[in-house]
Amino acid sequence: MSVNGVKITADAYLVCLTHALSTEKEEIMGLLIGEIDENRICCVSAVILLRRSDKQADRVEISPEQLSDASTQAERLAHQLQRPMRVVGWYHSHPHITVWPSHVDVQTQSMYQMMDEGFVGLIFSVFNQEKSTKHNRIQVTCFQSINQSPEGEPPQLMRLEVPLYIAPADCISKPCLDSLVNMPRILCQEEEECYLRTTQVPDMDLVFRIHNGAVFTEALCHIMEVISGPLMQTLEHRLQQNKAHIAELRQEKEELEKQLADEAAGKISDSTRQDPESPYKTTSV
Ligand SMILES: [Zn+2]
Repeated sequence: MSVNGVKITADAYLVCLTHALSTEKEEIMGLLIGEIDENRICCVSAVILLRRSDKQADRVEISPEQLSDASTQAERLAHQLQRPMRVVGWYHSHPHITVWPSHVDVQTQSMYQMMDEGFVGLIFSVFNQEKSTKHNRIQVTCFQSINQSPEGEPPQLMRLEVPLYIAPADCISKPCLDSLVNMPRILCQEEEECYLRTTQVPDMDLVFRIHNGAVFTEALCHIMEVISGPLMQTLEHRLQQNKAHIAELRQEKEELEKQLADEAAGKISDSTRQDPESPYKTTSV
């Protein structure tokens, strides 16, 4: 049975979108962690970023090892948070192209659904410029695959759009914060792997070596500029906001405590006072 909809928390959505916006040239991907509720709504509340072993502009693949690692991570999260958590879907980006899943995406999706029918796919279209306004547009779609051909005939896979809701979150949860902080590390590791592969080529021209080193340095600087720097700023702002919020709450608490003390004091004096309406006298003369 397929799902009726997908509800993703705002902080998990923030992680996916930040990841999608981290790379303009190639697609990025990750796994969605959450659970499916009794109304068949898939609730996503955490994200696992995946490291790409082979960067490609137009396709992404998840290895079986990555899937099993992710399941173990989800189990650990379930244990930490004391609620059911598992891998419920995947997401990837479409830089500079439309949001709609490609044939390969629909096929990949149907493969995942064979293992788990509730599995969902999210696609983020980023850096896609609108022709008339020249504005960069961000679009998101949620989909599953369905087989449209009758039984016994070769499968004809189609995409089925799944309604997507973003649930407001008043703070960034620990798992989502960890994913955000982990993001620059994963991007740097990917870059380092690419670079190290070039250093293993025997008898490479010195100029090529210098060039590759420079490309690597440039890539690391780029990650710092577009991910680490803004992330630090955002987290510092959040810290300031949280400190201000704590101060506000402390003040409110003090005021309420004072009010409570005043009221308690008022009640004691009230009980000794005579009720003017009552004909009975309660205090001795
Ligand atoms: Zn795709």
